[in-house]
Amino acid sequence: MQNRTRIEDLKNRIGETVTLAGWVDVRRDHGQLIFFDLRDGSGKVQLVVGPGPVHETADKLRPEWVIEVIGQIKKRPEKMVNSEIANGDLEVEVGEIKILNQAETPPFDLQTDGRELAEEIRLEYRYLDLRRPRLQQNLHFRHRLVKFIRDYLSERGFIEVETPILSQTTPEGARDYLVPSRLQPGQFYALPQSPQQYKQLLMVAGVEKYFQIARCFRDEDTRGDRQPEFTQLDLEMAFVEQEEVMILNETLLIALVKELLPGKKILQTPFPRLTYREAMDEYGSDRPDLRPNKNDSQTLAFCWITDFPFFEKTETGAWTFTHNPFSAPKPEFMEQLLKGEKIGEIITSQYDIVLNGSEIGGGSIRNHRPEALRAVFRILGYDAAAIARNFGHLLQALARGAPPHGGIAWGLDRLVSILAGEPNIREVIAFPKTGEGRDLLMGAPAAVTPEQLKELKLKIDSR
Ligand code: ASP
Repeated sequence: MQNRTRIEDLKNRIGETVTLAGWVDVRRDHGQLIFFDLRDGSGKVQLVVGPGPVHETADKLRPEWVIEVIGQIKKRPEKMVNSEIANGDLEVEVGEIKILNQAETPPFDLQTDGRELAEEIRLEYRYLDLRRPRLQQNLHFRHRLVKFIRDYLSERGFIEVETPILSQTTPEGARDYLVPSRLQPGQFYALPQSPQQYKQLLMVAGVEKYFQIARCFRDEDTRGDRQPEFTQLDLEMAFVEQEEVMILNETLLIALVKELLPGKKILQTPFPRLTYREAMDEYGSDRPDLRPNKNDSQTLAFCWITDFPFFEKTETGAWTFTHNPFSAPKPEFMEQLLKGEKIGEIITSQYDIVLNGSEIGGGSIRNHRPEALRAVFRILGYDAAAIARNFGHLLQALARGAPPHGGIAWGLDRLVSILAGEPNIREVIAFPKTGEGRDLLMGAPAAVTPEQLKELKLKIDSR
């Protein structure tokens, strides 16, 4: 729309005539005068319609109708000034109104913060729910945070590389989402639980500093504040030791808080570091909340947790990895790993970053020698054939000149929710799923047609 002024640009332009477009917000009638707020993506402003031909059109307007208006920016009378809100000192005297679209009455009030509603209805009408200023702010904040990360890393020589979504399994401790192949009936892609293997392959490929704002998929039973698909800041560097990765991440987090949230206070820098043992002994948790006052939302208590056991026993007595099968042990445990001795005592190079009692990221130095990675999979119970079948490509790559490397991934949704002061990650994701993994807006998952199943050579066992 040419000549359109965004509402955030109205200030200091008293007397000018402008064209605005947006949604009808609250409306108040005062006899001859109709007052209503107009809302666009940048803010709200009060409109006033006096007696005259436009009054008739204005009288028809209902909440959430989409309109275009032409009007003159006026200073509000002194006693009507509201200094608490943006544009609280001005109003627009409407000369023309054009109705661009009508709207059905919304299924819920959009004037509240939405917390009083059942989540199902909010998610079903998410496009309305997202009109709330609180959620708009969350989307804007998330955008600024991601942009800050992209700029910061780009300035330091990192490049962002996209990696496949249709892929082969990458174990991160969850079940895979599988996608049937039409061209190879009976075969399946796995959606990545993380870009872990691809980022390591990029290191072998000579990309020394990689990052990606990456979508990950994990099919887990409903537990806690999780989503079947979520976003990571994924990062990997060649020729680094643990310390360099930790310092880079720490300086990035500090710079990010300083730039985006100058009102917040980081409790302690450099971030405190605890070993897994110390954290468990002192706090009974490997993600301790170090804030003296847990209700203090302005304080950010970051800490690192290191020196985790590499392996732990499952219920059936087999060994499983505690964090990441691709990690290297700490150098002093390499012999033990290669020999498969005293497995329970092997310490991994894993480092987790914790914020206010939530794990917001984790990474490690990787096994860049194939024999070490092979040793891990042997301990995990894979025989030679299974190792070759599942990880042959990575082992081969490691045998072709893999530099030492390591990295990390942040749970971006969680980080944004904590920084935005939101109680769960669904408040900072545009279109989240329910706890049962349903997308109530799109109606997913859903049945498919018999033709689609036939093309995929699949049969549903409905017993
Ligand atoms: N791939 C790991 C994860 O998703 C993170 C990492 O070690 O870089 O947890």
